Amino acid sequence: MAATVFDYAEGISAVDAFYDGRPDQTAAHILIEQGRAAVIDAATAHAAPRILAALSERGIAPEQVDYVVLTHVHLDHAGGAGTLMARCPNARLTVHPRGARHMIDPARLLAATVAIYGTEATRRVYGEILPVAADRVIETGDGATIRLAGRVLEFLDAPGHARHHVVVRDARSRHLFAGDSFGLSYRALDRGGRPSVFPTTSPSQFDPGALHATLDRMLALAPPAVYLAHFGQVGDVARLGADLHRLIDAHVAIAERCRDAGPARLDRLKTGVAELVLAEAERQAWPLGSDALMRLFAIDIELNAQGLAAWLDSDPR
Ligand SMILES: [Zn+2]
Repeated sequence: MAATVFDYAEGISAVDAFYDGRPDQTAAHILIEQGRAAVIDAATAHAAPRILAALSERGIAPEQVDYVVLTHVHLDHAGGAGTLMARCPNARLTVHPRGARHMIDPARLLAATVAIYGTEATRRVYGEILPVAADRVIETGDGATIRLAGRVLEFLDAPGHARHHVVVRDARSRHLFAGDSFGLSYRALDRGGRPSVFPTTSPSQFDPGALHATLDRMLALAPPAVYLAHFGQVGDVARLGADLHRLIDAHVAIAERCRDAGPARLDRLKTGVAELVLAEAERQAWPLGSDALMRLFAIDIELNAQGLAAWLDSDPR
């Protein structure tokens, strides 16, 4: 299988996972150092052959993969971890301490996903979700480090999008692998190479205060580049960070407006998020019409609205 890969500097590439068959939506990043490799976020089981093909094209056999690094255990990042670990006999899996047990026994993660999407769609989108043996799992809490052929990767606890989220810092390049903590940045929205961002507030642990704090911590490190699972490398980090702060506040404002909407609440949240997408499109002059934008953001609008609803339910006001 040929992989669709975007190569950056520093031995870092993004492999398109073709999440649910869609290109340019979800990436697994690979980091290669002196003939050893780390895969940062595994996407789904369907992505494993693409990741292995990308590595093979760069002279890396499955035996040369030392780590599968998870930013968090949402299944578009972690669903394929077990499959990839089964193919890479020398790899260890790193995961936030809150996520480790879900990788060792994915039954609860799977059940939660089936409850939302149904059995058939879950299988179609994620493939088989295999467990990872406990003795291959490294828990990476705040301050943990690993070494890839001597190259140091540092872990920051990164709550806000999810409580089981870490951000990974490559100490040499000072680049950050953000998972979902730096929002979404689709390349189809770039204008003359200028990227823009939109937060992801997926259920069920969105916490705006924690996300603001995580963003500040990332921005304080002044990374020259950040890698997003959705999708790939962005620079101009300070500008995008300010946009994310503003757009997180805008999501909170939508949620507060809908707080007492009763049975209409979820629909009103979706409408609010969709309107925010269109307002941001105008502000940033995104080069897509409103129909194309609604298609591009369809899943995100749904998930952001669901996450805001979960936050309202959990928030004592
Ligand atoms: Zn996520």
